Amino acid sequence: MQKHRMLIGGQRVEPASGEWFESINPYTAQAWALVPRGGPKDVDRAVAAARSAFSSDRWRKLTATTRGDLLRRLADLIAADATKLAEIETTDNGKLITEMRGQLNYIPQWFRYFGGLADKIEGRVIPIDKPGVFNFTREEPLGVVAAITPWNSPLLLASWKLAPALAAGNTVVWKPSEFSSVSALVFGDLFERAGFPPGVVNIITGYGNQVGEPLITHRDVAKIAFTGGDRTGEHVYQLAARGIKPITLELGGKSANIVFDDANLDDAVKGVVSGIFAATGQTCIAGSRALIHRSIHDEFVERLLALAKTARMGNPLDADTQVGPVTTEPQYRKVLDYIRIAKEEGAVCRLGGGPAQRAECGSGWFVEPTIFTGVESGMRIAQEEVFGPVLAIIPFDTEEQAIEIANGTAYGLAAGVWTRSIRRALVMSEYLEAGTVWVNTYRAVSYMSPFGGYKRSGFGRESGMEAIREYLQTKSVWIDTLGNVPNPFVMR
Ligand code: NDP
Repeated sequence: MQKHRMLIGGQRVEPASGEWFESINPYTAQAWALVPRGGPKDVDRAVAAARSAFSSDRWRKLTATTRGDLLRRLADLIAADATKLAEIETTDNGKLITEMRGQLNYIPQWFRYFGGLADKIEGRVIPIDKPGVFNFTREEPLGVVAAITPWNSPLLLASWKLAPALAAGNTVVWKPSEFSSVSALVFGDLFERAGFPPGVVNIITGYGNQVGEPLITHRDVAKIAFTGGDRTGEHVYQLAARGIKPITLELGGKSANIVFDDANLDDAVKGVVSGIFAATGQTCIAGSRALIHRSIHDEFVERLLALAKTARMGNPLDADTQVGPVTTEPQYRKVLDYIRIAKEEGAVCRLGGGPAQRAECGSGWFVEPTIFTGVESGMRIAQEEVFGPVLAIIPFDTEEQAIEIANGTAYGLAAGVWTRSIRRALVMSEYLEAGTVWVNTYRAVSYMSPFGGYKRSGFGRESGMEAIREYLQTKSVWIDTLGNVPNPFVMR
């Protein structure tokens, strides 16, 4: 079994505890790698290394252009290792190799984009209203950033944080999920090869309460960038508040995929399937509620069932597989629990509805792609994030009703709209309470477009020009050019 070490101050280190835990391959349900079990002492070392790197001339005195060069060199190294890293991610989290290869081939663009932005961070000269004063602003890094990431897209979601954080001149301590740490630990080699000074990026692994909490509350951590579930996010927010630390929270969702009667139904069927069954429903942006116009409801459901039934399940490392296992055993149980709850609530199970018993699923944690009709907006299956291949279908009659149902959850991460009407596309995109609205497409992201939540799906934006602002603070500098101090007893 592979045995990994953490990355602190440019060195590969063993955990202070001297303990490792097993990382499980969700397809075989067998351990395949050993991950260091970090703790508060490791956090102290990692933060000290990041803090010292932040104040060191080797990092601080780099020109912004050179910082950008390092990020672009890192992008090239990731591209060269994309296949290897994708295979590690699939082995560790069970997501399809086709999806993880796509992600790994795309990740370099975040480092290129933010590498390009590094030397375009500019302050302003303000024509201040007081004579004899020159006033300008500087955009400065915050210091040590704690990046905490989930298991579903480990390197992609980390890159959304690392690329802008480093471009802005911060240093980072990154804690990946205990369920998918291996790719992060292997990825760690690339920073030194790209030429980053030691300590600029540190990677520590372990459990949320043993590594995540001491990291968030550490006095030398200046900012928290968190992606995960909303319950954990709430707790992390409270911990950050104690230290008055800025935080970005990318949390869960219960996104509505809304199909109108004027939509191209062939496309809409594919869009609804991709919204919920891609990545086995384990994406924050999963379109886990399909809102279907009543006049096409029955026909649409038949078409959806017909397509969903064809999904090939099996080994996520096979390029032909379309639905892989659920990533963790607790998550597997949670998904099955929600299926039971939906049945108890009176929703009608039209497809799946339990563990997959197919031979090709081996001993992995597989759940059949599941579709419920007869769902009412107040049911738990329509309100709570399942994070699995479970779709709740709700009929609607009017645009207003679709908006009311779509906005009627605590979340606001994303929404999809299927229509041929430009008017309707504009109206819906205005009234939907979601950080992302897709029209006639679903699950598209880019390094260029801001991503984040409304409401309980979090705040702050990743990707796009907005993201760099999350890692900067503004200093206002006043220089007197008059050369005399007027009345010292009043404010100037
Ligand atoms: P969790 O919230 O369980 O964990 C996220 C991260 O937080 C992990 O690294 C976890 O460590 C860590 N953590 C757990 N407890 C604490 C704690 N007390 N203090 C500090 N850190 C802690 O999420 P999952 O890993 O289960 O990921 C799934 C969730 O992520 C879903 O809700 C999904 O919607 C959301 N998500 C949101 C995205 C977005 O961009 N909006 C994108 C992708 C996912 P450990 O693993 O060791 O517990």
